[in-house]
Amino acid sequence: MGQWVKLICGASYQDMPTVQRLVMLYALAGVDCIDVAADGAVVAAARRGLADAVRLAGYGEHRNLGLGLPWLMVSLNDSEDPHFRKAHFDAAHCPPDCDRPCEPICPTAAIQFQAPGQGGVTTELCYGCGRCIAVCPVSAIEAQSYLVSPEAFPVDQLNQIDAVEIHTQTGHQAQFTQLWQRLEPWRPYLKLVSISCPDHDHVVPYLKDLYRIMAPLGVPLIWQTDGRPMSGDLGRGTTHAAIRLAQKILEAGLPGYVQPAGGTNGYTVSKLLELGLINQAASGAPLREIPPNGLPTTQWVGAPAKPSALDAKTISGIAYGSYGRSQVLPLLDAIDQELQPWLGAESSNPRTIGQRTPLSTDLPTNAASTPWPPLHQSALDQGLTLARQLVGQLKSDCHFLSKRYG
Ligand code: SF4
Ligand code: SF4
Repeated sequence: MGQWVKLICGASYQDMPTVQRLVMLYALAGVDCIDVAADGAVVAAARRGLADAVRLAGYGEHRNLGLGLPWLMVSLNDSEDPHFRKAHFDAAHCPPDCDRPCEPICPTAAIQFQAPGQGGVTTELCYGCGRCIAVCPVSAIEAQSYLVSPEAFPVDQLNQIDAVEIHTQTGHQAQFTQLWQRLEPWRPYLKLVSISCPDHDHVVPYLKDLYRIMAPLGVPLIWQTDGRPMSGDLGRGTTHAAIRLAQKILEAGLPGYVQPAGGTNGYTVSKLLELGLINQAASGAPLREIPPNGLPTTQWVGAPAKPSALDAKTISGIAYGSYGRSQVLPLLDAIDQELQPWLGAESSNPRTIGQRTPLSTDLPTNAASTPWPPLHQSALDQGLTLARQLVGQLKSDCHFLSKRYG
């Protein structure tokens, strides 16, 4: 219905505490889907973030329905892709007089130096944006690409995800087919499939080929138009490439939903409105009615790829990545400290990483006697306001925390 909003945590981003808090915050702000790395530990962290959101929103009475919770999506690649790479360099080989422009430009503080000649990239924090590579005066930083193997994802966590995204590029029919076949064991768990692809002269016939390879799909399909990858926080102009590609795919009339990403930011909605690419007549969000994070329902099996209520020439939603994260990242530590009395130390305990975590809405035993913090002027309030400002551009009825605070 044109109101689907996805947060992209990053296909390579493996900083568990940050993922947990991002997921909590954007779940409370009302996103429909959260896209994380296809890594069992990251999925576990994301689920802890969802559980925290449920606890904070006072959703205990709805725990069995799971209404309002975003779906969890994991990202895979069928070949080399900028989203699936990590920066690497050996600080011992850096010129001693280098001003280290790589350090401040990194949006996640993944690059740090302890002393001259000592330091490097913290792999878990790097999501492959490439900004450090571009500024290094001696080209000392290399990008190490990798392929995510679906077989490496824990089978017992498949029922904890709702959707998969496949990153591909024009001309990769053979690689895509191979990956699609390897995803056969995943299919019963998936409520949605997303294809992320950058622009190319032959992108439309390529996506048509992919549709034929996947048919019959039986679940909704999203074409994610990856305009300028991982750039939304660099300036308002980055949004144009994603919108141009979305227009191209909409014009082609491919079966499925169209969702811009890659460069999307706070200006994307106004630009889309200007171009008439948002369906302003639509209301409601049918996809949200399906309970997330459980075994799949049969509700969408056999459903048409595009409901008739959808305006074929308008986008179905927007995915926000680096811009969405950059809005709230500086607040996450303060939010964490504020929430410890209510969510408990277990919530961010690294020892729990990788363990299967049920979506419990129970608060720690001491939380019942602890007064809730005043929301006004708290870091949580600031974070929620920023997240809500972004999410609320496309939707306006999903601010869960107000339930808790009346
Ligand atoms: S600037 Fe980007 S590519 Fe370089 S270390 Fe930081 S996140 Fe990784
Ligand atoms: S910019 Fe390049 S040479 Fe300079 S410290 Fe960073 S990695 Fe080393």
